[in-house]
Amino acid sequence: MPTASSYPSCDIPTVDLWNFMFESPRNFPEDKVIYRALDDSRRYTFAKVKSTAKAFGNALLDGWNWQKGDILCVFSPNDVDYAPCVHGTLYAGGIIAPANPGYGAKDLAYMLKNSGAKAIVTQKALLKVAVEAAKIAELPQSSIILLGEDVSHSTDATHFKKLLKPDEQRKRPYEIVGEDLAFLAYSSGTTGLPKGVMLTHTNIVADVCQIKNSVGHNYTWENDRLLGLLPFFHIYGLTGLVNQPLHRGLEVVVMPQFNLDAFCTAIQRYKITFLYVAPPVIVQLSRGSNVHKYDLSSLRMMTSGAAPLTKELVSFVHRKLNIKVNQAYGLSETSPMTHTQEWDAWWTCVGSVGKLFPNMTAMYVSEDGKEVKAGETGELWLKGPNVFKGYWRNEEATKNAITPEGYFKTGDVGHQDENHNFYITDRMKELIKWNGFQVAPAELEGLLLDSPLVQDVAVIGVHDEEQHTELPRAYIVPAEGHKPSEKLGEEIVAWLDERVAYYKKLRGGVRFIDEVPKSQAGKILRRILKGLAEEE
Ligand code: AMP
Repeated sequence: MPTASSYPSCDIPTVDLWNFMFESPRNFPEDKVIYRALDDSRRYTFAKVKSTAKAFGNALLDGWNWQKGDILCVFSPNDVDYAPCVHGTLYAGGIIAPANPGYGAKDLAYMLKNSGAKAIVTQKALLKVAVEAAKIAELPQSSIILLGEDVSHSTDATHFKKLLKPDEQRKRPYEIVGEDLAFLAYSSGTTGLPKGVMLTHTNIVADVCQIKNSVGHNYTWENDRLLGLLPFFHIYGLTGLVNQPLHRGLEVVVMPQFNLDAFCTAIQRYKITFLYVAPPVIVQLSRGSNVHKYDLSSLRMMTSGAAPLTKELVSFVHRKLNIKVNQAYGLSETSPMTHTQEWDAWWTCVGSVGKLFPNMTAMYVSEDGKEVKAGETGELWLKGPNVFKGYWRNEEATKNAITPEGYFKTGDVGHQDENHNFYITDRMKELIKWNGFQVAPAELEGLLLDSPLVQDVAVIGVHDEEQHTELPRAYIVPAEGHKPSEKLGEEIVAWLDERVAYYKKLRGGVRFIDEVPKSQAGKILRRILKGLAEEE
């Protein structure tokens, strides 16, 4: 029998995100600041997000002939303008495909082509990459719009603020329902190349409601302020820091990139009370020699997700800095959060990812597809209103990921204890996570096979104790005429470095083998390679 959430079910409105955020009753004033730039030079109140988003939506509808279902790719670091661009596009009936600002032109072009995006929103600093990607994807340069602090004239693209068309009377031309798509979040899922994860308006509304009805009562618009550090392009930031605050009236101080001193300064200056982070931030906090010089006493909770976090690190940070860290778990495919440790009981189950969200059921399943008994280890399968609709234009991957009964196979392995705490202990899918960022082995393998130095290759993630993260490592059969050597390994790493974004580099190095272990069907047997790495 699948396990039902231990929380009471909550009400999930069936409206689209625009109605949910802006046309539904709220308990905070319209002039509440929601997004504040790190240097406090720019702010958006709730009312200003709404009016700017509407004016941007009007601009898309009038100037860009925007149709229902058209896709806007947002290729930008965190910025206060992010939410108005996102919600303006949703207002106009569009879909947002958020892209990692660390992408090179080829990564971005792949996503533009795969999604069929009609326009790109970026910042001046990334314009060169965006222009090149648009060229590769055969999108006209006129499809590029800018956001961010720098509104000065650019010959290559117009700032969205110069396009705004305020018109309060205008009605939305398209009817958008909960089942329509809101976001295409790119993830490799259990196998293969990155795919567009189709998230509906209802998926996101559901996750915001599920957070509110599980741990969300611990913070309020009157008393709390968040730091917007997690990338907004990742669904963890998009739901937690872009969408949740608008619905709850929470203020977010927006931080475009991580730097330990700037991070501690921001907590001290703005008296930040609550944070979402990924494990590398906690690693840096634990090692920082200056951290104790800052007053971080406003901080009531730091929630870590996106990758595994060790018990030892949680205990160390609590002992050394008196900072409480609880864990959350989720995936792009679940909008994203499905579990969080409770704020008032996190120390009773350190190492767990917490309790299953309301309105969800879960089961652990053995390799032969049978549900295992309570407490036994298996693959985690999840069902609920926040589970995605499928992979964009990829029926086969969708069929492999979601059972006919609606269970999503996460590819993560773990178990549950008798107090409804869930644990994630392993991953059976190919996915590698470097510092919380996804690296798809299939993508690196595809590129490496093009190298004149490589005959065959398999890529896996190896755990690095020091850095508390996985590092992509390639097991390589050299091309004819090349002998395994340290120099050849370095040449292969350097060859790939030139072709991938910074977070996809082969930080775990290269190992040479005679043959890539494969099943009869030609599938790479990664377990064997993982075994080799563990032996080392
Ligand atoms: P993404 O789609 O990028 O959010 O990646 C989802 C994957 O990140 C999951 O399938 C897990 O493998 C991993 N993950 C997320 N949160 C946790 C966590 N708290 N502990 C362990 N792994 C996690």
